[in-house]
Amino acid sequence: MAEVERHSYDVVVIGAGGAGLRAVIEARERGHSVAVVCKSLFGKAHTVMAEGGCAAAMGNANSKDSWQAHFRDTMRGGKFLNNWRMAELHAREAPDRVWELESYGALFDRTEDGRISQRNFGGHTYPRLAHVGDRTGLEIIRTMQQKIVALQQEDFAETGDYEARIKVFAECTITELLREDGRIAGAFGYWRESGRFILFDAPAIVMATGGIGKSFKVTSNSWEYTGDGHALALRAGAKLINMEFVQFHPTGMVWPPSVKGILVTEGVRGDGGVLKNSEGERFMFSYIPPVFKGQYAETEQEADGWLTDPDNNRRTPDLLPRDEVARAINSEVKAGRSTPHGGVYLDIASRMPADEIVRRLPSMHHQFKELADVDITREPMEVGPTCHYVMGGIEVDPDSGSSSLPGLFAAGECSGGMHGSNRLGGNSLSDLLVFGRRAGLGASDYLESLERRPTVSEADVAAAAAMALAPFDPPGEGEVAENPYTLHTELQQAMNDLVGIIRTDGEIRQALAKLEEIRSRIPGVMVEGNRQFNPGWHLAVDLRNMVLVSECVAKAALMRTESRGGHTRDDHPAMDAGWRGTLLVCSVVGGAEAAVGTVVPDVTVAPEPQQAMRADLLELFDFGELAKYYTDAELAEHPGSA
Ligand code: FAD
Repeated sequence: MAEVERHSYDVVVIGAGGAGLRAVIEARERGHSVAVVCKSLFGKAHTVMAEGGCAAAMGNANSKDSWQAHFRDTMRGGKFLNNWRMAELHAREAPDRVWELESYGALFDRTEDGRISQRNFGGHTYPRLAHVGDRTGLEIIRTMQQKIVALQQEDFAETGDYEARIKVFAECTITELLREDGRIAGAFGYWRESGRFILFDAPAIVMATGGIGKSFKVTSNSWEYTGDGHALALRAGAKLINMEFVQFHPTGMVWPPSVKGILVTEGVRGDGGVLKNSEGERFMFSYIPPVFKGQYAETEQEADGWLTDPDNNRRTPDLLPRDEVARAINSEVKAGRSTPHGGVYLDIASRMPADEIVRRLPSMHHQFKELADVDITREPMEVGPTCHYVMGGIEVDPDSGSSSLPGLFAAGECSGGMHGSNRLGGNSLSDLLVFGRRAGLGASDYLESLERRPTVSEADVAAAAAMALAPFDPPGEGEVAENPYTLHTELQQAMNDLVGIIRTDGEIRQALAKLEEIRSRIPGVMVEGNRQFNPGWHLAVDLRNMVLVSECVAKAALMRTESRGGHTRDDHPAMDAGWRGTLLVCSVVGGAEAAVGTVVPDVTVAPEPQQAMRADLLELFDFGELAKYYTDAELAEHPGSA
């Protein structure tokens, strides 16, 4: 067997984005030794790209805000399919997590009286996003890295070794989770630079690997988003939920082609930017759906008045939740009212002075100028939907972040439930902080309750190494050599065209047939060269994860015969209250044993009832609003039904 570098830790955190780093801090604070592994450079996680801000009901910009209002907005945004306990914990704890970041050294933008400034965002009733210009994610990562360095300095003072309790393994990809007797025992991977194998022996693993966007052709996501955490957890026996819900952010760049899909933050609309079609019409007023009727401005005058006087005007429909805005743009384009390159206009230039735009949105200004030669202080941008976020992920216990596989915890974008069918902007950064911390605590509690550390078997290590090396094997008899780049392009195209923003039964079935074909070709994938920094090999390994996760998306999308949040069925255009209480749960056919040595195992999707919301939380909503989402039978006991 190939040589394997070996390490032993109490907790291994896979992923060094916001969720992962917050979990590291918590597990280390509990005195455990923690390895943090990331396939990119340390500091270059997806979280760095987060622009607009972190949602937390601190009430700094509008004292009417409260955790209850944040909870209500989150549930509405997710169309009441959210795990309500997660939404509750998130709304209650987000302010403390933001203030805590300040104590670690974060420098948020301030209000005139010196408090943390908060901005408007889609679906949030009050200005709620704590931000640092449009570089909020960068500041959050910088701060947490600084905190980790401070903890390492404490460890040095105590032990003489900076890495006594926290060690970073950067540019290191985990390819397999290892178990003993149905519990986590470790993780296997390789160094991207040398290709050498590495094994972590650890009883507790926190998965924090982010999203799946690289399965789609047009996406705001960076190269790391290949659904690794989703796929590894599934293979090891955990379950995924809500995989049919994929968020297409309404405002990705559509032109020029080199930057297609790159995000234009919702902060542009939060700060006053408006969407217009090719006829110059502010079309969002025509797209306020029945469930939001009465909550949004119905005239331009009222929408503009809201920017300065939110107490006496309703908010602009440009800031409806993302699923609604993305569908509206899609309809405008279909109706022939698109920009020259197939999008709509996003205009901030005519709405505020140039220096104010540069002050509030420095990265947007810089990005468009440098990459597209568009000056957003002088002309509108051309924007359209881009695959942005996956609401689906590893099913976890809300309080501890534990999955159904003992020893496996998950937080951040790779976990599921918190956002229901659609995430509100800004709710991811707060999710990372709240549930990253909770997963770190959950892993620590689990560890402390263990009587014996599970051990990794040599046979499992050999199987993981063989699986990783398979793309170097020449094709077997009758097998055609396949190029991983070609298969990836075909996968992205199929997901984009057939399981994208608008779906139908026929198209999803076509996608599943294509996925089946790709799956059958994967064993033939062959790469040139050796293991030293070999991007073709890296892609070949990631591709298996993307195909597995795409199958979950497509199979769940086929089963859910309604439209809700990030799942729009042209053949079932209405939201169906009968589906609200149902989660679609993906698992591997035959369980984890069947997945060992199988390149892309079969997945199955099964409906599971959602746990009913606690009565005191249900009472936070008017009966009339609940009646838009719930069945009569579900509401029969509600006091308002009399
Ligand atoms: P990430 O930050 O992506 O970290 C994932 C980590 O896992 C990385 O370190 C990666 O290297 C590692 N990894 C992945 N696979 C492996 C593997 N196999 N082995 C080892 N390591 C692995 N949300 C908001 O709330 N507000 C915003 O303003 C906002 N703006 C956004 C702007 C953009 C352009 C984008 C793309 C997203 C934005 N989001 C925003 C969403 C938010 O940034 C993400 O959902 C969030 O950062 C995900 O954090 P995470 O910790 O779950 O994962």
